[in-house]
Amino acid sequence: PKEDPSIPIITEKMKNVKHKILVLSGKGGVGKSTVSTNISFGLSMKDDQIGLMDLDICGPSLPKMTGLEGEQVHQSNSGWSPVYVNDNLSVMSIGFMLPNPDEAVIWKGPKKNDVDWGDLDYLVIDTPPGTSDEHLSIVQYLKESKIDGAVIVTTPQEISLQDVRKEINFIRKVGVPVIGVVENMAGFVCPKCTKESLIFAPSTGGAKKLCDEMGVPFLASVPIDPRIAKSCDLGQSIFEEYPDSPAVKAYQTIISQIT
Ligand code: ADP
Repeated sequence: PKEDPSIPIITEKMKNVKHKILVLSGKGGVGKSTVSTNISFGLSMKDDQIGLMDLDICGPSLPKMTGLEGEQVHQSNSGWSPVYVNDNLSVMSIGFMLPNPDEAVIWKGPKKNDVDWGDLDYLVIDTPPGTSDEHLSIVQYLKESKIDGAVIVTTPQEISLQDVRKEINFIRKVGVPVIGVVENMAGFVCPKCTKESLIFAPSTGGAKKLCDEMGVPFLASVPIDPRIAKSCDLGQSIFEEYPDSPAVKAYQTIISQIT
């Protein structure tokens, strides 16, 4: 990535970003974008300025998850301007550039990181899933702009955990610090009795074990919660809609280890 001509652009544009956090997963569908969105919503509850960048260019879901579907981005001399959710949270996604949300896109070239974020306290970067070449080159590329660390999202099953091991080894090799691992969708909190059922048991507890084995922090276990899916589908902040939910408590635990 050293000879990539767009490196000076991202470094230049990101120079007023205090902290950059990568959100990664070994597989798609484990809840990476959901975690990226909710971390960003949660961080934006304080006075900090937060940016959320969607690098999941083949399946951009952040416009919908942040309630910005159908919004357009504009380009000025200083780059693409992100779209604002509120005074504290702005989002950039290739999804804003697609004429039709059902269309897939292959977006290549230096422009994709040329975003005029302005002054940010935190930039949360949602990366493409997996350990594909594309994913690896994006992490290598972003590393040039000094990433604070990576949050890795997994489901409890061994099939997802296998890829997390690969992912941790890779980002360690690249030199990006591991903030920790989030286990998503392990337990289900019954809304009637509020008891938690570990519905994937015995395939549960593996993420914690993996963290102990690999010497990385286990950040939190986020339960399966229809309120998470609903907030995502409606583009609403779960922190505002369901502030007392176990999911919000889990996201707050994650955020306290990022900040
Ligand atoms: P990824 O980014 O890893 O591909 P997403 O974040 O898009 O995955 O999540 C896939 C789907 O699962 C979304 O519809 C989301 O609303 C839902 N989802 C994610 N985490 C949870 C959870 N803890 N409880 C309920 N639904 C969830």
